[in-house]
Amino acid sequence: MIAEEIRRLHEELPEGVRLVAVSKFHPVEAIKEAYDAGQRLFGESRVQELLEKEPQLPADIEWHFIGHLQTNKVRSLMGKTALIESVDTEKLLKVIDDESRRAGVTTRVLMQIHVAREETKFGFTPVELFEFFRDRKFELLTNTHICGVMGMATNTDDMDRVRADFHLIYDVYDTIRANKELGLRGFDTVSMGMSGDWKIAVEEGSNLVRVGTRIFGNREY
Ligand SMILES: *Cc1c(COP(=O)(O)O)cnc(C)c1O
Repeated sequence: MIAEEIRRLHEELPEGVRLVAVSKFHPVEAIKEAYDAGQRLFGESRVQELLEKEPQLPADIEWHFIGHLQTNKVRSLMGKTALIESVDTEKLLKVIDDESRRAGVTTRVLMQIHVAREETKFGFTPVELFEFFRDRKFELLTNTHICGVMGMATNTDDMDRVRADFHLIYDVYDTIRANKELGLRGFDTVSMGMSGDWKIAVEEGSNLVRVGTRIFGNREY
């Protein structure tokens, strides 16, 4: 089942769109099955869970951290992730940079954008993100590389709303990327799309999708 879904997704995804298999709440056996089917990018949303699974699995797995990250947990993640997709405050970004310097590593991150019409979602508003780049705050970073943005659409059955949210996220990403005066290098990743909406996300420009339920089935929290 898992292997079959992995293969089908890789067939369906256009070239240039990478797949993160979101394995949160699923056991290492399930991850191993996906790995054996060729999957190498996995996403986890809790630090403790990632730290428990990581040593039990092959070293060439790229772990993406996709959940809300508390500043006091940053240190334990240093050197363990290929990408932290969910930087949602300037404070967190600074802690990641300080801890990366301390650990002697460079950490790759995405800035999380909040566009969904929900109170509880984390992330920068488009205006906050534009201001962050306009004020060139990324220049303060020594050991953190901002590779792009991550965003989620509103949790709704209204697919026009979902498409509009992805369109906006892509537009924010593209506006920042196209601004040559910023001199950003390697700002090339726009992560959007989950099990229920990844096709729309890809149509709207996503080049990194995060799919959990469709691969691993329902989560038992
Ligand atoms: C859980 C999660 C996903 C995967 O969601 P599915 O609907 O199971 O595909 C994607 N992105 C983030 C940020 C998540 O927390």
